[in-house]
Amino acid sequence: MSDFFHHGDLVAVLTTQPLDRLLDYKAPEGGCHLGAFVEVPLGPRKVLGVIWGPGVGDYDRAKIRPVFRVLDVAPMREEMRSFLTRAAEYTLTPLSAMLRLGTRSPGLGDPPAMRKIYRLGAAEPDRMTKARQKVLTVLRDYGGLSFTLRELAEMADVGTSVIKGLVGQNAILEQEAPRDSPYPALDPDYGGKTLSPDQTAGAEALRAALRSDAYGTTLLKGVTGSGKTEVYLEAVAECLRMGRQALVLLPEIALSGEFITRVEARFGMRPAEWHSGVTMTERRRCWRMVGQGDAQLVVGARSALFLPYQNLGLIVVDEEHDTSYKQEDGVLYNARDMAVLRAAINGAQVVLASATPSLESWANVEAGKYQRITLTSRFGAAVMPTMTAIDMRVENIPNNTWISPTLRNAMRDRIGRGEQSLIFLNRRGYAPITICRACGHQIGCAQCDARMVEHRFLKRLMCHQCGETTPLPTVCPKCEAADRLSAVGPGVERMGEEVETLFPDARIAVLSSDLYGSARAMKAHIAEIAEGGADIIIGTQLVAKGHNFPLLTLVGVIDADLGLQGSDLRAAERTFQLMRQVAGRAGRAQTPGEAMLQTYQPEHPVIRAILAGDEESFWAAEAAERKAAGVPPYGRMAGIILSSPNVQDVFDLGADMARRDGPLRQIGAQVFGPAPAPIARVRGRHRVRLLVKADKAAPLQKALAQWAGQFRLPTNLRLSIDIDPQSF
Ligand code: ADP
Ligand code: ZN
Repeated sequence: MSDFFHHGDLVAVLTTQPLDRLLDYKAPEGGCHLGAFVEVPLGPRKVLGVIWGPGVGDYDRAKIRPVFRVLDVAPMREEMRSFLTRAAEYTLTPLSAMLRLGTRSPGLGDPPAMRKIYRLGAAEPDRMTKARQKVLTVLRDYGGLSFTLRELAEMADVGTSVIKGLVGQNAILEQEAPRDSPYPALDPDYGGKTLSPDQTAGAEALRAALRSDAYGTTLLKGVTGSGKTEVYLEAVAECLRMGRQALVLLPEIALSGEFITRVEARFGMRPAEWHSGVTMTERRRCWRMVGQGDAQLVVGARSALFLPYQNLGLIVVDEEHDTSYKQEDGVLYNARDMAVLRAAINGAQVVLASATPSLESWANVEAGKYQRITLTSRFGAAVMPTMTAIDMRVENIPNNTWISPTLRNAMRDRIGRGEQSLIFLNRRGYAPITICRACGHQIGCAQCDARMVEHRFLKRLMCHQCGETTPLPTVCPKCEAADRLSAVGPGVERMGEEVETLFPDARIAVLSSDLYGSARAMKAHIAEIAEGGADIIIGTQLVAKGHNFPLLTLVGVIDADLGLQGSDLRAAERTFQLMRQVAGRAGRAQTPGEAMLQTYQPEHPVIRAILAGDEESFWAAEAAERKAAGVPPYGRMAGIILSSPNVQDVFDLGADMARRDGPLRQIGAQVFGPAPAPIARVRGRHRVRLLVKADKAAPLQKALAQWAGQFRLPTNLRLSIDIDPQSF
């Protein structure tokens, strides 16, 4: 197949419109390349698309319209097209939806926007004023650099009219410059650290893998603080030396300030950033620069996988076990799995870094599919914290308080020594339940099957499913009794109150995503705390991830049993990971740390495994259980969610689907359900779930498509298929 189409040739175009087929057009004047981004007419509109192949032309050629225009951006490469195709097949998503993920950048089609820049001219102004002198001095001081009007006015502290006046006299030159300037080059040999023997071995293994120019995945495992980041940055350096692009994915990207600073210290320049916290203009620039190969390193959120890399050589997935890599709306995909797919197509290397890898990755190492590198100790003098259980059955705690005397004493010691403590509770808000003491009514969300959670800081009740908030009521919405509403159970805000009562003189900081207006405010606060701005930190999951708190030596987990409730088969894995991650916050610098887990079931096998820190046997036991149950990673699963405002419709269709399961039975798959989904109602839509379980080797996607294709969906009923669901 030729990869150029001449004027008038038929081409098949994939558009971003939700159609399940390609559309035929005629190549425009001047022709177009395979993969070119184009605008095509569709009805009265013009839509974005990509030249996907030769047209079929099985209908009246005369009616086929020409491509409107070819956009001035690099054509999509073959690898990218097969990545989108295979990702669409894997996730059972229309290809057009995958393309939308890859073209999210607004203004993709615009020619590079020009802006005016100003630099020193040859002429002297006829009349020199103080203001004019200031402008010229700034320009001379910066020896030939150019600036935008606003920058220059600001630096010289003059009005813009002064600059315009100088332009009129040719004392300053005004020029057009493309807005999309390339990212400055990173220097792979800038600022590298001297590695420990463990790190050196790891870095060398990764460099060797990269030099093979072939696909491979490596699990880089090591406790928090063992120096994994330094090791994979060496792999990035090697990738840059080879002239290939690298991508580092982070889970909580809004918090990556610390990380960007580290990258800058290592490579001398800041990398390109791609995430929701970056401005539109910057994202557009990033998209173009990645496509031209002018961005060597991208640090980004999961959607950075869909950028149009020219020559991607390395993808690092940091904290690979993190559940936020799974996108739960729109296209349901797991960025970790898609990274592996993308790398396999590109002949690139993947590094999965984690202190507590997912069972999936561990199983892939066991099966010999992934290489494994282990860093066994913390870098430098720091050691893993000691972990103990506090048996809550024997602690003497007053009602409506949650900190045991044992934990309280440990906190007091830390304050005495000028060290920090972290109180961890994975519950946002003040209290999870608001109950009426007169009639027993618990306040729930009107739209969801969920309780309203009191947020005292916001002075509102909030639904954590749909985000709906209402003012704090003073009378019961059911029986109208006044002043009988009462908060039951703890959230972080309430823990803040308790800690304040226990330690009135301590400096206390509550860290929860609700308490910040912006990601920047949160980052600033975290940085201040890390430098010693608080004695006691109270936090949710937010603090479990990636931050360095050098003065922190004690972690107290208020309710270690929290994640073990419910029937989810992944509960053990999640709890194990979360507890180890949180504990890892303690004792990163020179002082050894201690983690204390409050629990009512210290003999629970998961709690025992956490305390023992014996990961290999924990994994082996988990693996055996999953194998016996035939669930991932040893079997395959898919969740089918049916949702509709009409409860009868979802149950009827669910039952019908369970009955007519021929295509699934043919591949030996089983259907379970329908049952109310883990959240049975969201935003007024009732949700029912069917779970499909199949053998590892079964052609599950094909059978699912066939099966779901048999049914007519009532209006307003939505069916979504979730391959590899997060809970089962
Ligand atoms: P991880 O990614 O495993 O949590 P990091 O790479 O963040 O660990 O390392 C933990 C701390 O130790 C960081 O402050 C890092 O700068 C420091 N560190 C790691 N390796 C080295 C090294 N070889 N030389 C100096 N400092 C190091
Ligand atoms: Zn709700």
